[in-house]
Amino acid sequence: MTAEFVVEIDEKRCKGCAICVAVCPKQCLAIQDNYNPSGYFYPALKPDADCTGCGACVKLCPDFAVTVYELLEQAG
Ligand code: SF4
Ligand code: SF4
Repeated sequence: MTAEFVVEIDEKRCKGCAICVAVCPKQCLAIQDNYNPSGYFYPALKPDADCTGCGACVKLCPDFAVTVYELLEQAG
């Protein structure tokens, strides 16, 4: 079974530093054209992203704005 991961960015916490974009070994994240209420451009998972769930983006975000979830397949 291949694991699938979802990366959630809490855009209101994000300060647009792009550390998460820089540390992702699979280049899964990209800063978007949209900005949050504080005026910071925040990242999102790219549509063709191949996230491995390594957690680097979660650990290195200084604003605790990133969460990674593993999607579990239902048996049967
Ligand atoms: S969990 Fe790892 S592979 Fe997935 S987006 Fe974050 S840094 Fe990239
Ligand atoms: S590391 Fe955190 S604060 Fe910086 S751009 Fe990514 S989500 Fe935003």
